Amino acid sequence: MKSELLTALRSAKGFVSGQELCEALGVSRTAVWKGMKKLKEEGYKIESISNKGYRLMESPDIINEDELKSIRKTVWAGKEIVYFNVTDSTNIQAKRLAEDGMPHGTLVLAGAQKAGRGRRGRHWESPEQGGIFMTLLLRPSFTPQKASMLTLVAAMAVAKAIRIETGLPAEIKWPNDIVLNGKKICGILTELNTEIDTINYVVAGIGINVSNQAFGKEINATATSLALEGGGILNRATLIEAVLEQFEYYYEIFCRNLDLSSILDEYNGFLVNRDRQVRILDPKEPFTGIAKGINAKGELLVETENGEKSVSSGEVSVRGIYGYV
Ligand code: ATP
Repeated sequence: MKSELLTALRSAKGFVSGQELCEALGVSRTAVWKGMKKLKEEGYKIESISNKGYRLMESPDIINEDELKSIRKTVWAGKEIVYFNVTDSTNIQAKRLAEDGMPHGTLVLAGAQKAGRGRRGRHWESPEQGGIFMTLLLRPSFTPQKASMLTLVAAMAVAKAIRIETGLPAEIKWPNDIVLNGKKICGILTELNTEIDTINYVVAGIGINVSNQAFGKEINATATSLALEGGGILNRATLIEAVLEQFEYYYEIFCRNLDLSSILDEYNGFLVNRDRQVRILDPKEPFTGIAKGINAKGELLVETENGEKSVSSGEVSVRGIYGYV
């Protein structure tokens, strides 16, 4: 009911009368009045004038199901939403929901995470109200070998959404991070549940630092937030919606070819390490070279003294020669 009220308020050009709301939603005048009261209690600024009706003036920074459903423009990404004020990790919850049979495109959101994780089980700092903690549950029909490219698809979607919503020049640090001015603003953790040659489900976790003012001392030199980079006061719901829209767009392109050929040029234009010296922290054999961009399989092409090497994302991290990027 609250999400339908919000949708109706948002789609009205100016005021929408109580009578129109009753008819559109099929509920009583009292129900509309009570719904408005609840929305005001949650922080929505709603003007009400007799003979004119109601008008939405301002929305609070809320990321629950009602708010997100009322601004949804996607077809399947975020069609189902599960929101937690606080949880262990949105990836853990998404896996649980996947086992319960939730559909492709289900979005799991949290206000804060107690056990946010990055790759190799590393900790992801997830303070309350500080950021966006979201996981998309996917049920692709392609084979597990293709799945590592989903991390790149997600990175492309996040970088594009940040650019559109904030105007800040978000760049991709291959394979799973987004950086702004050389510091990490977002990490992506994609996890799979597979059979031999089929995927049961994928969870694509995305953590974005939005309003953090400081970080723990281990990451203070390499982490930043949209607020610290001058992104202004940002409505998290709007950014989440933008990420979902971009994800749906790039995912569908990816599914047509099952490679990254159609987004290759755009991706490489976003790549922070392109044409720069990088150190590839391959657990087997670290090496140095110049990053040239990715290929259609999502591998990073690195020019070395011994010729060009293609690096697959797996467990590899990239560092700039003089610092994080
Ligand atoms: P790296 O970013 O160091 O190349 P990675 O991509 O494998 O490695 P992730 O798995 O994406 O790293 O993220 C985990 C790491 O990110 C942590 O070990 C920590 O260094 C850093 N980190 C943790 N929380 C945050 C945060 N909120 N913002 C930025 N960086 C963070």
